[in-house]
Amino acid sequence: MTFRRMNQLDLTAKSVLIREDFNVPIAAGKVANDMRIRATLPTIEMARAAGAKVILMSHLGRPEEGVIIDQQVQFSLQPVADHLAQLLNCDVPLVNDYLTNPDCLSNTGSSVVLLENVRVNNGEKGNDANLAKSYAELCDIFVMDAFGTAHRAQASTHGVAEYAAVACAGPLLATELDALDRSLQDPARPLMAVVGGAKVSSKLEILKNLSTMADQLIVGGGIANTFLLASGINIGKSLHEPGLVDMARELMAKTNIPLPTDVVVAKEFAENATATTKQLTEIDDNDMILDIGPATALRFAELIGNMKTIIWNGPVGVFEFSQFANGTETVAKAIAKNTGFSIAGGGETISAIGKYSVTEDISYISTGGGAFLEYVQGIKLPAVDILEKVAF
Ligand code: AMP
Repeated sequence: MTFRRMNQLDLTAKSVLIREDFNVPIAAGKVANDMRIRATLPTIEMARAAGAKVILMSHLGRPEEGVIIDQQVQFSLQPVADHLAQLLNCDVPLVNDYLTNPDCLSNTGSSVVLLENVRVNNGEKGNDANLAKSYAELCDIFVMDAFGTAHRAQASTHGVAEYAAVACAGPLLATELDALDRSLQDPARPLMAVVGGAKVSSKLEILKNLSTMADQLIVGGGIANTFLLASGINIGKSLHEPGLVDMARELMAKTNIPLPTDVVVAKEFAENATATTKQLTEIDDNDMILDIGPATALRFAELIGNMKTIIWNGPVGVFEFSQFANGTETVAKAIAKNTGFSIAGGGETISAIGKYSVTEDISYISTGGGAFLEYVQGIKLPAVDILEKVAF
């Protein structure tokens, strides 16, 4: 990718404005989970060590735009500033009036400052040019480091890069994009995509895009039901989308989609529902398919073992209920065991990875839910697009 990278620039004595993703859970005025904050520490330390004056900015939650933070203090980044101060072992003043009084940034005496929640600024969400210019004027160099917001064209993720004297990608963003490109642009083959989850409709663009590039596509979860129906199987009262049966047939004609041969069914969708393993020919009209069967799980694991690249999004069954979790657990462990390159992303997928303790064995776990899904769909992320446009 042809954008500038922070580590290629001379940051000495420069004001460096870094867009991070500090959208973390807050409870009782404190940061409840600091994973996202910790992920940004190498970027901040690198800029500090290079002699930069570091100005951090982020959003937190969904405050009302144009309403001052004092009237919606639950969206203040103060807990993040306090937490960062502890982690960095230095003062991290939170600055509120940076738009009306930009000079206040140089008067804090601290090498790291945090700007108050950008989403209270009028024009942030609409990518207003004047607001973007105001951000740009705060710095010599703008660094976009928040992959999780890269799919949004907003003033602090997109517009600012257009007007800043220099704009580049931060290490977190660059690492994420490199990992995605490794699996999507020039993957080692064979490449397999595993797409599970509830509905074909919510993953349609992903399925379409991956079916053109993957050597094998495993569909799981509710999604697989529509494919089974398209193959003439009675799926009883399983979750499915009749309107997408033809699309499923089209996708099966394009790429190799191995379907389950056995499934785990129940009469109801419930935590204590009785699970029964059945062959495809045995499914009753009042059965619901809630997981792939054990023989299918082993077959999929074997196929996964032969791959050089694997992209995974979505559970292959209702893994939240233990009696329907075997498929997702087997697939997760097989992906973890694979010695090729594996990338996974999406909320439920990350929960499953945590549940089966395979975090360390997946080559790359994407931090950005929506941004990951859009990238896998083949959509150009606006915040990355602008970094490329202004690069040279
Ligand atoms: P998604 O957000 O589309 O990735 O969907 C994830 C959800 O799909 C999980 O919460 C699973 O419980 C659910 N799911 C997986 N398999 C099935 C299935 N066979 N029937 C209904 N829901 C399913």
